[in-house]
Amino acid sequence: MTQTASLSEQTTGLTGAEVAAQRAIHGWNELPRPKRVSPLVLFLRQFTGVFILILFIAAGIALALGDAIDTIAILLVVLLNGILGFVQEWRAENAIEALRNMLSPNARALRDGREQHIQARELVPGDLVILDAGDRVPADLRLTSDVQLLVDESVLTGESLPVDKTASDEDPRLFMGTSVVAGRAEGIVQAIGAKTEFGQIARMTGSVRERPTPLQIQLGKLSRQLGLGAVGIALVIVVIGVLTGREPVEMFMTGLSLAVALVPEGLPAVVTITLALGASAMARQKALARRLKAIETLGAASVICTDKTGTLTENKMTAATIWMPGKTYSVTGTGYDPAGHIARDGLRVRAEDDTALAALLETAITCNHARLFHSPDGWTMIGEPTEAALVTLAYKGWAPIPDPQDTVLEIPFSSARKRMSLIARSGDETVMHVKGAPEEILGACSAVISEAGPVPLDTSTRRAAEEAFERLAAEGLRVIAIARKPAAAAEDTPDEDGLVLLGLVGLIDPPRPEVRAAIRGARQAGVRVIMITGDSPVTARAIAGQLGLDVGQCVTGPELEHKTDAELTAILADGVLFARTTPEHKFRIVQALQAQQQVVAMTGDGVNDAPALKQADIGVSMGIRGTDVAKDASDIVLLDDNFATIVRAIAEGRRQFDNVRKFVGYLLSSNAGEVVAITANLFLGGPLIFLATQILWMNLITDGVTAIALGLEKSEPGQMQRPPRRMGMPIVGRGGLMVIAAFGLYTGSASLFVFYTFLPQGEAVARTAAFTAMVVFEKMSVFAFRSLDQPCLRIGWFSNPYLLLALVAMLGAQVAAVFWPPLQILLQTAPLGAAHLGWIVALALPLVAVPEFVKYLGLFQPAPARR
Ligand code: ATP
Repeated sequence: MTQTASLSEQTTGLTGAEVAAQRAIHGWNELPRPKRVSPLVLFLRQFTGVFILILFIAAGIALALGDAIDTIAILLVVLLNGILGFVQEWRAENAIEALRNMLSPNARALRDGREQHIQARELVPGDLVILDAGDRVPADLRLTSDVQLLVDESVLTGESLPVDKTASDEDPRLFMGTSVVAGRAEGIVQAIGAKTEFGQIARMTGSVRERPTPLQIQLGKLSRQLGLGAVGIALVIVVIGVLTGREPVEMFMTGLSLAVALVPEGLPAVVTITLALGASAMARQKALARRLKAIETLGAASVICTDKTGTLTENKMTAATIWMPGKTYSVTGTGYDPAGHIARDGLRVRAEDDTALAALLETAITCNHARLFHSPDGWTMIGEPTEAALVTLAYKGWAPIPDPQDTVLEIPFSSARKRMSLIARSGDETVMHVKGAPEEILGACSAVISEAGPVPLDTSTRRAAEEAFERLAAEGLRVIAIARKPAAAAEDTPDEDGLVLLGLVGLIDPPRPEVRAAIRGARQAGVRVIMITGDSPVTARAIAGQLGLDVGQCVTGPELEHKTDAELTAILADGVLFARTTPEHKFRIVQALQAQQQVVAMTGDGVNDAPALKQADIGVSMGIRGTDVAKDASDIVLLDDNFATIVRAIAEGRRQFDNVRKFVGYLLSSNAGEVVAITANLFLGGPLIFLATQILWMNLITDGVTAIALGLEKSEPGQMQRPPRRMGMPIVGRGGLMVIAAFGLYTGSASLFVFYTFLPQGEAVARTAAFTAMVVFEKMSVFAFRSLDQPCLRIGWFSNPYLLLALVAMLGAQVAAVFWPPLQILLQTAPLGAAHLGWIVALALPLVAVPEFVKYLGLFQPAPARR
């Protein structure tokens, strides 16, 4: 398990020219993609629904009866509807494909003598790859060196327990797709892409289908129920029609058209499209949805459990102060630029002037994997920010840079251990260098450094160290203790006790400026924020204070272990912060919150966070600092690691869900109007108010386009001022049903009124007037559905340009339907005059004005099911 080989085989990695040559031979490190649905198949799929097939049959019957015009009209409407569906689905497919591309993994490789982050697809055989805990192995590698390496090979072997791997194994190979659970490793790429073991299997298994989201399931159910209802209504209408002496064929066509028009077959597809486009909108906000489910669940999120470092804070660490018994040093400079200095009592000091400081800096830079680079944009680092800050500190103190060849053995950092130890040769001696959380390190120290070398750590000095730790942490600093001890040259399992304390380093990690407002936003939206951090309680509380986060009590991981589930539930009732936690604690906290019916979003970045991320309703991983394992387990990846992005994503999730409710409500209210008009007319005994083709035109063309535009509605002003919705809340609640019924009654009666007013002018004119009235009514109703409770006056009449465009286009299409001879023939319409249009406009106005007025007075609350 020790570092079994140095980088003797290849110390600088491949050069650019070698990479190019290898690529010319081997190509890119990519697996063959599952084939995309071809546009033709996608287009043809639009014509496969049961009801569309029935329409084809109806067109055939019409043809057999010699009614060529109806046949053409039905086929044209079906074709137009198919084209619309195709365009939407194609857009959705493209949006999802684009998201998939954004998720392409990275790898760390040594090239031209420099460690670089590259895209995994750029790897070529011969590349030297560096792996850390949580990384997915990006190609088949031959291990060249390793430190306590544990690899999860379950994707290949099904074996769930991680396996030890060392370069001295008989077959020292790491396989693409497996993941590093612990330790570090370096290896040379042997096979890439389809040539890897994983590539061979992937070719066999093909693509995985995404499971339907709860909303899709719910809507599927709703459309089935409505479908049954629709068929029932259509049957009743046909029977009544025939019984009252109407032409059976005519009634059959009417009933059929009504059934087809009423059955919201397309609803689940529209939801998929809305969610897919929503996913694109979210990606623009820097939240990448890995599963469509996440978008709708996010809208219902009621708790965000967030880590601190890097999500609430910048994760740009700078050492600000060093404490040693009896003395304190201050450090100047910002970021990773070593242009600063260490000062004591106002005087600059360097390692060579101060042996105790020299020892601390040597340990800080030796027990470390970070590297600093100078680029034209300034100083940057590769590695952990905590470690990079310590390297920068050592540079500022002019400490010598250690030779990695001197490393003998390493016990890596993990969030459970909260420390890292490394044994290295230092001149003639061998030293164990240790750094980590002060609680861990102070407990393991038995001596402390002094001018005269190590002296026993007495109670008062220990107390002084603890007080210094508290003081620094209370300022919001992250405190790292540095210690060392002489070690035997070759120790297999060295103990990490009996250390000599060298000092404490306080690191500044400023809160992200936008997080304070985001936390306030979450609170207003009824979403609780709970910080769960591995950092110390005092630092965590200080940062929470700076961010305006309510913290009643602070519970540490070890304390949590002694709490019963009931106690944990009680703790979670008030403001709480969890510190010094390990990933296992996160899992328990998620479960406890879920037991209280909370919808939990949980952040995580480490390899051990995967179970908690999977358990959470929305697992959120970090795009920049997250491990591949955490990303794989998550539903959402934050491209900027920023807490504020989660809150923006919740707002986006709420918008998507609201929009689904809006267009479902809108479509149903339109259908309700038609049912009212047709049924009432049958009882009145007049001639048919709408022809079959006219019904299809209204529902499959003009309403469909308008509903899609409604799905693009912007978020409403009050959207983040109300509590989250209950999961499983019906899409159309009781309030919604009443609104739908009210609209249906009005539009149905008003079009009947138009029909009978103009019936003396002839059936064709009256029918055209009623048909046009219905289309205009349905278009005007859309304004009422643009917001669930806000008048357009408040959300802005022009804030959804797509909707206005759709309205203009659809009203234009209706003008064509009435005045353009070819459409006149197909839809059997007659030209209308000013009197007809005057009545239609007059009757349409209340559809806009009344809901506006009611909402303006705040009388309209169609969402009673909220918490
Ligand atoms: P959060 O969970 O909010 O991201 P965190 O980064 O502090 O917080 P961990 O990564 O679990 O959480 O770190 C826990 C503690 O371990 C830190 O507070 C620090 O004292 C110590 N620590 C962090 N990184 C290192 C490291 N590279 N080497 C040694 N000790 C470290």
